[in-house]
Amino acid sequence: MTNSVKNREIAAILYEMAELLELHAENRFKIIAFSKAARAIESLKEDIVQVCREKRLQSIPGVGKAIAQKVEEYLRTGRIQSHQELLAQTPSGQAELLKISGLGPKTINMLHEKLNISNLDDLEKAATEHSIRRLPRMGETREKNILRSIERYKKRSQRILYSTAEPIVNEILTYLGGIAGLEHITAAGSFRRGKETVGDIDILATATSPEEVVASFVCMPMVEEVLANGPTKASVIVQETIQVDLRIVEHRSYGTVLQYFTGSKDHNVRMRQLALGRGYSLSEYSLTRLADSQDLFYETEEEVYAALGLQYIPPEMREENGEIEAALQGRLPSIVELKDLRGDLHVHSSWSDGRASVQEMAEAALVLGYEYIAICDHSPSIGIAGGLVPEKLEQKIEAVAAANEALEGITILVGTEVDIKADGALDYPDELLARCNVVVASVHMGQQQTERAITGRLISAIENKNVDIIGHPTGRIINQREPYDLDLQAVLEAAARTGTALEINAYPGRLDLNDINARAAKDMGVRMSINTDAHDPKMLLNMKYGVNVARRAWLEKKDLLNAMSLHELMNTLKSRQ
Ligand SMILES: [Zn+2]
Ligand SMILES: [Zn+2]
Repeated sequence: MTNSVKNREIAAILYEMAELLELHAENRFKIIAFSKAARAIESLKEDIVQVCREKRLQSIPGVGKAIAQKVEEYLRTGRIQSHQELLAQTPSGQAELLKISGLGPKTINMLHEKLNISNLDDLEKAATEHSIRRLPRMGETREKNILRSIERYKKRSQRILYSTAEPIVNEILTYLGGIAGLEHITAAGSFRRGKETVGDIDILATATSPEEVVASFVCMPMVEEVLANGPTKASVIVQETIQVDLRIVEHRSYGTVLQYFTGSKDHNVRMRQLALGRGYSLSEYSLTRLADSQDLFYETEEEVYAALGLQYIPPEMREENGEIEAALQGRLPSIVELKDLRGDLHVHSSWSDGRASVQEMAEAALVLGYEYIAICDHSPSIGIAGGLVPEKLEQKIEAVAAANEALEGITILVGTEVDIKADGALDYPDELLARCNVVVASVHMGQQQTERAITGRLISAIENKNVDIIGHPTGRIINQREPYDLDLQAVLEAAARTGTALEINAYPGRLDLNDINARAAKDMGVRMSINTDAHDPKMLLNMKYGVNVARRAWLEKKDLLNAMSLHELMNTLKSRQ
């Protein structure tokens, strides 16, 4: 099988066109022509880009003039107009049914005709109610297989958390890293861009003997199924539904390949346009000078960006959100790094629902090189999380002061995560909040309120002079809970006006504010704080996930409370009182 990305992309589109045509009961010869061409391009030994450049497309068996034109169109523009039109003419539910393995256009049409099934929900319902097994050529086994395929498709289409992908990536890099002759190895794609969720995991490597690396990859203990296995690439399934693709690429092209497979798609479209404007064509193999078809190879991404007159763009920023313009003008911000952070301003201790003492949390923070840590336990309304009644908080203030005396090298700040009650009032009186160094105010209950009510609650907390940070401001939990119905713009305006910071909660399932909202907050001059909300010492290490969000939001040190020195921080917190 060929190693070319474009061969596979084009083959996939042609296969899909054949299926869509069949769904529309089009001319049989036309359908056959598309699948034949798809198969030929898929198994072509040469790179289709090269074949196209040398005007030899029609020499591929099964590729006539019409399909050759479509291939050229795809290589030029990244899409095929007639494919888009076919998709537009197909009810989206039916197009999705094509993705259920074992279901072809014929069966889909039959199911539509006999049982009026036109989308995934209809299909699942019919299979669960056993109406499919009674149809001709279906039977019990096929019905069961359909249900299994649906389940698998649903799981596969849900992206996994970054923190789920991370240990898999690390294990693979360690496992393959020891093979002799392996040069580079890295994960690309949305993982490298630090997205909160990841689809498939893409691993790229260069090696003197690719076969050996691929052979080790498909034999890793974690591999549950091998989907594809060739001389320089393989795809496997781990943890039931997670697909991992490995590609061994040419050393001399590592820069362009890494750039290409890191994405995002939109960023790469702009990169290609920029290259064309300068008389080059950019592909995953090389930068080609159009004037004389000379290929320029780059081993590093830095060289690729420099060749196009751009500052190096960190992967997290490659989302086609103004980064290319900024890099052209040499004014990319210097985005925050984990090592820039000097403390954690929202952690719990055994005073409420944490699993470690104040002392243990502080010692762990000291090991991480922090200057300060704020111990923020819950307030009384959060009874199930051991919220502290006012007298208990007073005792805790004294206990923290004592722990602070006892521990050298780090400052323990006394804090609270005070609940914003359903009516917008805070769960402690102002005098008590004023005695805390750091007040994080959060919504934990009444999350179903109307937009007006919940926005009003947050704004009244933001306006309280004792509140320093709003915890997990939109309340979303990835793949589980939608954000509150919130007028975020109004919240950002209030935060900007009062100088109250908003949290980027680094817990991997929260990451809230998310990247987009944090970028909007920065643009409005709102300060933020990346906090782990740790309930034990190990969770302090989640800070890196929050840093991913901050980098994707273009945040710099100056945007973050916890990138300040203790001295600056205390002045900033005090200056609001
Ligand atoms: Zn909370
Ligand atoms: Zn908390």
